[in-house]
Amino acid sequence: MSDELKHELGQEANQGRFNEGHKGDKGWADWLWPVGMVATSLAGAALLMLRGCWHRRMSWPVRGQGHAYQVCVSCGVKRLFDEKEFRPYGPYCYDLNELIQWERAQREEPLQGKRVERPAS
Ligand SMILES: [Zn+2]
Repeated sequence: MSDELKHELGQEANQGRFNEGHKGDKGWADWLWPVGMVATSLAGAALLMLRGCWHRRMSWPVRGQGHAYQVCVSCGVKRLFDEKEFRPYGPYCYDLNELIQWERAQREEPLQGKRVERPAS
């Protein structure tokens, strides 16, 4: 590599850094803050940012491990499906076991007042 070329590349890198610094003074921080809030409150939004997928095309519900769920044909994310109401519910997750755990937690919450005790196995 010639010194001249190195010099040019160095200049470009410096310019890039300068532009980035210029862009990021305040506008970015203002913009990222609400996006961060949405992403942490909605798992779906976080997945969207990672995979760029809205999960608009969900598969026909399938059964697995005693649960009905749909799978996104674009990215493979799963979502539980209520066969009685015939609509999907709950969070999006790539791991069916996590969804089952979530579902179980939802079912157990309203029973808290009744003191359902399970023997430790
Ligand atoms: Zn998807």
